[in-house]
Amino acid sequence: MSSIAHNLQVVHDAIALAAHRYGRNPTEIALLAVSKTFSANDVLQALQSGQKSFGENYLQEALDKMLQVETLRVESLCATIPEWHFIGPIQSNKTRPIAEHFSWVHSVDREKIAHRLSEQRPDALGDLQICLQVNISGEASKSGVHPDQLLALAQQVQALPRMKLRGLMAVPEASDDTQVQRAAFQRLAQLAQRLIQHGIAIDTLSMGMSGDMEAAIAEGSTMLRIGSAIFGKRQYAV
Ligand SMILES: *Cc1c(COP(=O)(O)O)cnc(C)c1O
Repeated sequence: MSSIAHNLQVVHDAIALAAHRYGRNPTEIALLAVSKTFSANDVLQALQSGQKSFGENYLQEALDKMLQVETLRVESLCATIPEWHFIGPIQSNKTRPIAEHFSWVHSVDREKIAHRLSEQRPDALGDLQICLQVNISGEASKSGVHPDQLLALAQQVQALPRMKLRGLMAVPEASDDTQVQRAAFQRLAQLAQRLIQHGIAIDTLSMGMSGDMEAAIAEGSTMLRIGSAIFGKRQYAV
């Protein structure tokens, strides 16, 4: 078994254990493998181990990797087709390739970006699945819509064609303290509840990374974004 296959098994076991501990159904917790900085071959190994969804932060890296993965996939007769999620910061001049090459975008945090993605989404690809990124750590984070502006943004996004608002995403300030981790995720879960009370039908809480997945599961995560626990330690060229 490759180390990626092994790591995936370890992560799935940890999800099942935490789900059991907090009374959650593990089938309601999806795993997004965050492959940023890792190679197409690493993605292929994860695909061959049954992992289907992959998250990328940097557009050009992602586009190059998608092509390479496609070649490797055909060569190795791997029948699993990857589903790509964009989870990084979005510049407004880069929305078209995102709309054309991804199934999900987790990092929408302003109306201008949502509008452009909606306009640029090809009809043939079906709805782009959207999470709104929320700034739940205040000053410490620059990305994400402020909680006070979330409802208005959600209502705007909900009205746009060719996109489906699925839920909320957050990257809280890093902390080793489980209580601090849980408090941040609880804020996101409460904001999702508030949207639902306003009639906005969402089903996704994209929260939890390698260092805080148990806290995220405890607070209701439905999609974990896990990188290093699957692929190993990242080495940044930049
Ligand atoms: C890198 C990244 C992750 C994965 O982080 P790990 O600590 O490697 O699990 C998840 N979400 C976002 C937005 C990221 O940028």
